[in-house]
Parts: sequence; C-alpha cells; structure tokens
Amino acid sequence: MKEEKIIHILVSGNYVSDDVVSKAKKDAENKNQSVLDYLFSNEIVTKDLVGQAIAESYDISYADLNSIKPSREQVFKIPEEIARKLRVVLFDESEEKVVIATDDPIRANLTNELKNVFASRDIEIAFSLSEDIDEILVYYRDVLSKRLSEVVEDGERVAPAVITEIFDDAVIYQASDIHFEPQEKEVVIRFRVDGVLSEKGRISKELYGNILNRIKVMAHLRIDEHFATQDGSIRYISKTNKSAIDMRVSVAPILDGEKVTIRLLSQYTRELSFADLGLSVNHQQIVKKASKKPFGMILVTGPTGSGKTTTLYSILKMLNNPDVNITTIEDPVEYRILGVNQIQVNAQKNITFSKGLKSIVRQDPDIILVGEIRDKETSEIAVNAALTGHLLLSTFHANDSATSIPRLIDMGIEPFLLASTLEVVFAQRLVRKVCENCRFSESHEISALEKDFHGISRYFSDESVTLYKGKGCEICGSTGYKGRTGIFEFIDIDKEMKELIMKNPSSDQIVELARKKGMRGLFEDGIEKVKNGITTIEEVYRVAEPLE
Ligand SMILES: [Zn+2]
Repeated sequence: MKEEKIIHILVSGNYVSDDVVSKAKKDAENKNQSVLDYLFSNEIVTKDLVGQAIAESYDISYADLNSIKPSREQVFKIPEEIARKLRVVLFDESEEKVVIATDDPIRANLTNELKNVFASRDIEIAFSLSEDIDEILVYYRDVLSKRLSEVVEDGERVAPAVITEIFDDAVIYQASDIHFEPQEKEVVIRFRVDGVLSEKGRISKELYGNILNRIKVMAHLRIDEHFATQDGSIRYISKTNKSAIDMRVSVAPILDGEKVTIRLLSQYTRELSFADLGLSVNHQQIVKKASKKPFGMILVTGPTGSGKTTTLYSILKMLNNPDVNITTIEDPVEYRILGVNQIQVNAQKNITFSKGLKSIVRQDPDIILVGEIRDKETSEIAVNAALTGHLLLSTFHANDSATSIPRLIDMGIEPFLLASTLEVVFAQRLVRKVCENCRFSESHEISALEKDFHGISRYFSDESVTLYKGKGCEICGSTGYKGRTGIFEFIDIDKEMKELIMKNPSSDQIVELARKKGMRGLFEDGIEKVKNGITTIEEVYRVAEPLE
C-alpha cells in the first residue's frame, strides 16, 4: 500500500491530526526520511496502530502477527504456493471457522480460492502488515542445505542457482557475513547472524570452483588469480524481497583453496534510528546535548564489531538537515546517507584518514565524521577541527571510555586541547536480545546465580530475581535470541572532568571522578537490560566484566 494512502487512513481514522502530519512531512523531508518512518521513529504512531487503522479502513479485524504467531502446523495447512500467491497466513481456527491474515484483503476471489483449502469451514479475512506476513512465510523455507542439494540434483545452471539460494538466505535471516571455507574435501558455508557464526551447508569442491569464478566475476575480480588476496564489491538484488544489498567481497588464498568472505553492508542496521540503539533516556540526552554544540568532539570506543559505526551513523542521521554540511571520511563507507558527502579511504590513491581529513576541513563543513582515529596525525587534525568550529564524531579503539583519555594523550594530543574539545566519550558493546516470540520468565535465587556468575550478587538488592530467556522457535532459528542492542558506559565531559583531563590523569582517576558523578559501567548497563527482560546474564558476561 502506498504511503500516501496509509497517511490518509491514519488521518481520517483520527489516529493522527492534520497538524501532526504536515509537521511530519516538513521534518521528514529535511531529514530525507519517509513520512511514515518519521512517524515511527518519533513514536507518534506504532506499527500495530497502523495495522489497526488499515484494517479498520477495510472494515475487517486486525491480525497482530507481531505478537501472536501461529504454529508451524497451522501455517502449513495452507500449501506454500497458495500462501505465497494470495499472501495469506492461517491466523486462528476453530471447528467452524478459520481466520486468515493477509496484507491484500481486497484481492479478487480471495475467499473462493481459499474454499478449496478449508472445505466447509467459514473463512474470515483479517488484515496484517506485509512485513509480518513475510516473516511467517519464512516457515515454508527449507533449510539451506536441503535446497542446495535439490539445486545440485536439478543440474542446470547450478553455480548461479546455488549463489542465489545462499545470498537470499543470508538476506532473509539478516546475516552480516557469509563465509565460504574450503576444507580438505568440501567447502563449508557459514553465516554470521547477530554476531554469532554457524554452519548452513556444504558443497563439493568441484562445484565450488564454478561458484568461486562466478562470485569473482560478479565482484569484478581476476578469475585467473589464485595466490593473492583480492577485494571487490557486488550490488545484489534479492530474488525474495527485491531489495538491493551492497556486499563487500574478499578472497584470500588458504591451504585448501580460496576462502571467500562476503560482508552484507548495513542491510538491516540501515534503518536503525537513534531511538533503537539501546541508549537509556539519560544517555540519549547527553548525546543530544553534545551534538547540538557547534564544535567539539564526540568519541565512541570499543573493540571491532561493537557497533561503534552504527551508533555514529544514527547520530549523523539525527543531525542531517539541509542547513548543515556534513562530510565523512571512512574506511570503508558502510552506509550511504543522502545529503552527506562521504569520502572513502583509499591507500592506493593516497587518500588516508589524515590526508582526507585535511582536505575536508578546507571545504568548511559543519559536522565531520572520521571513521577512526588511528594515529597521531589524524588525532591532531581532528582536535584542531573540533577547536575551530566543527562538530567532530569519531571512533577510537580502546576497551573502555576511561582508558581512551590517557591513550589519546599518549598518542600526542596536548591534555589542554583534549580538555577543551572533548564533549562526551562512551564505550559500547553489543548483546543479543531475547527473542520476543519465545520469551519466558523464571524466578532465580541470587545466591544460586552467584555460583555460576561470580560477582553478580552485588547488582541485585533482593534475594530473588525474575530473568527472561528465549525457548527457541522458528523466528529466532532456535537460538532464543533475535536482534542485538547496545550496552554503554558514558563519560560526560563536564567542567570538573575537563580540569582533571588537563592534569594528565590515569584511567583510574577518571573512573573515580566519573563514578562519583554517577557513571554506570558497561556491565551495570547490561544488567539493567537483563532486569528489563531485553537480554540475558550470559550475554552480558560474554562482552563485559563485573566490578571486582
Ligand atoms: Zn524465538
């Protein structure tokens, strides 16, 4: 359904007022956002509300597939072909009646076509949102390994068909990486989903030869080169949902052949809004306050894969208005943002972080994003830019927020320059979120937990606590987890902290002052999310440590 029509339905159903919509239209245009996305990200409407409004406009009920998921057995009562053609899912049933959810309720002959399936039972049509229908239609998908063997048996144009199956699966299951790992006899295919790598299938080495060649062609790499690493990129259009995904391809020779690693750039984090990062209200305010200043530096620290870049992008998206000039220098450019000038680091063309940054500063931007501060030269130019009327966002490789300050000073930044530019520095990690579809709760004695999780008891004041877990279901691929969120440790650089930084402090001194001002450590922030049922203690221990 077209966005305009949905907006019209929301207004005529009195779900939002005309005034709100006209303001949203203006603001959304400034931010290069769709009006609906704007309404969602500003929490003016929810997905369920939109579903209800559309259902009401059709004068049928709303099937909330988002919170009530039919079982696999129920779904399979409608054959796949019909389900996909009519975009229908069995939502509820009794002896006399079935409730069918669809995103296309006005389709001609809908009930008639379903009559063959449900014989004498009454058919009630209900409305569901397209993305929720899509999520249920995934039930029909066989596991990748089974489909791959079918493709191979089929024998026609095998290599391209296998690649399509693998790429589409990666898109559907929101994998961030695909690995083809040649072993002695076979090639193992693995996906990384929510940060965790798992095997999805195996193919023969003979077939892999063709697949490798084809991937190299798609990525504009040399097919006759087998002994050197090569990097390229593919823009892939998913067969299943027709979306375009940018992939970064890297080929490396290993003992048993050539290993291919494909990163799916930002395909699902692209929509990530500032509100979705997992920042507490207090942390959101600190970032908003710092990013509204006309100059200064906002730094995010954490190891590789901790979500630093995503966080900076969502801050940038929030600040992206036609009246500000934003320029970035990145390695690589992971997300393209409309209205932002993005420069890619390129060693061959001699564009390094420091050289790129130098030329950016000359172009008078208001906001600069530097992918990473890696060396003395970059740090000096960055601090200078932040001093001279630019808001500078960057990442820095450090374990926690407190150690990054002495490390920047060690790198050669004068303490007084750092003190006068740094506005906020925060560390972050990613934890997996408990699957909302199969989440259940259990009460635990703290004393029993302490045996498994040393140091946990000091974070709970009661004797027992309710903890949440995922049982494992279709939606989460039996892992009990779906999606990720950030945990954070913030240091707001106020006057007192600036004075301390000028004295070239140790990280312990910084922690001491920050704690005095109420800083919450990474582990503590994680435990808050455990208490709220968002993640598990296991996840928090995986990425952070309790206080000694
Ligand atoms: Zn689940």
